[in-house]
Amino acid sequence: MRLFAGYIFDLDGTVYLGEDPLPGAVNAILELKRRGARCVFLSNKPIEPVESYQQKLRSMGLPVANGDVINSAMITASYLAKEKKGALIYLIGEKPLADELSKAGLMVTGNPLDAEYVVVSWDRAFTYQKLNDAMHAVLNGARLVATHADRACPMPDGLVPDAAGMIAAVEAVTGRKCEAVLGKPSAWMVDAAMSRLRLPREDILMVGDRLETDIKMGAAAGIKTALVLTGVTRLEDLISSVPAPDFIIHVLAELLQEDGREVVRAGGDV
Ligand SMILES: [Mg+2]
Repeated sequence: MRLFAGYIFDLDGTVYLGEDPLPGAVNAILELKRRGARCVFLSNKPIEPVESYQQKLRSMGLPVANGDVINSAMITASYLAKEKKGALIYLIGEKPLADELSKAGLMVTGNPLDAEYVVVSWDRAFTYQKLNDAMHAVLNGARLVATHADRACPMPDGLVPDAAGMIAAVEAVTGRKCEAVLGKPSAWMVDAAMSRLRLPREDILMVGDRLETDIKMGAAAGIKTALVLTGVTRLEDLISSVPAPDFIIHVLAELLQEDGREVVRAGGDV
């Protein structure tokens, strides 16, 4: 594999698992940076503020600038702010997501009949009451969007249900489909990462552990993809994978296994 000028890294299962960095991952990224590569990090997880992901990477020894980590909450907030400035939102989601929406000038309302949008996300306090509210908001004309559609999230103690459960509930009772799902594998997410890198697509590698989000998204965006086997995907899952990743690596250190050429910078300097 050649060195790329820019890398988009998934976080969970790629850089770390829970609280622990994956073996060699931090050193591999540090070495890519030392050779001049630019790196951004993507997560679908909206249950913590993006600052805490930045802080987590820094505490593992990875220097990241503000803006180097992008999550589905940020993309959802900027999508809605562009759709309708100051829109009223009924939210099925947690506080960090509500804060992100507020920061973008959107207004989270407790009254479903005021809502112009229903935003559905991962909500560990999801209730029948919230489902009822969301249903009435949608039946009253609110538009339906979701942050991300992951089915389950790996936690140190095993898998926990993710946003797909809440989305399925709201879609089932309303008979409506979310008009936008903003996180990976959406074009909104990869576009945000690519504009952060400011590099031509042929100079960017998407690195992640999930075929149905990371690899699918990179392939759809026309960038090269590398699947790392430190997360949810096993080698045997790859047999039926469409699209197939361009590279398969066991650990991130394999990104450095090339002929030692320096990264060719095609874009301007940051
Ligand atoms: Mg992952």
